[in-house]
Amino acid sequence: MIIPLLKGLWLTLKRFFSKKVTIQYPEERRPISPRWRGLHYFEKNSAGETLCVACGLCVAVCPARCITLEIYEPEGGIRYPARYEIDTLRCIFCGFCQEACPVNAIKLGQNYEYVHYKREDFFLTKEKLLSEQYKN
Ligand code: SF4
Ligand code: SF4
Repeated sequence: MIIPLLKGLWLTLKRFFSKKVTIQYPEERRPISPRWRGLHYFEKNSAGETLCVACGLCVAVCPARCITLEIYEPEGGIRYPARYEIDTLRCIFCGFCQEACPVNAIKLGQNYEYVHYKREDFFLTKEKLLSEQYKN
C-alpha cells in the first residue's frame, strides 16, 4: 500500500527538478525555422502598393483552390488585383503561390498565430496582406 505511494511521490519529485519541456506561451516563444511557412503577406513598392500584377499564376497553382482574384485592368495602365483574398481555413501552407509568383509579390511569413471567433476573419484580404500585422 505504501510502496506505490512512495513510488508516485518519487516520480513527482524527480520531475519537479528535471529540465522543463514546456514554455510559458504566449509570454515565451520557441524559435521557429527560417523555412517556416506562416501567414501570407504582400510585398510592397515604395508607394506602399502591392507588387502583384494579377497574373493569376498563384490561383492556378494553388492545390487548395483558396485564392480568389478579381483583376482590374485600366486602359493603358498596369493591371492589378481589385480583389485578392486567401481563405486560410482551406490553405495548406504549401508555399506554391510564393514559388509561382513571377514578381515575388506574395510571400509566406513567420506568423503562425491566427485565432479568430468569426469565420470571415480567417480571410486574408488585400488590405490585410498589405498591413504589417501579418508580416513577422
Ligand atoms: S500556400 Fe498553398 S494552399 Fe495556401 S494559398 Fe498558397 S498555394 Fe494555396
Ligand atoms: S500574387 Fe503573384 S502570382 Fe499571384 S496574381 Fe499576383 S503577381 Fe500573379
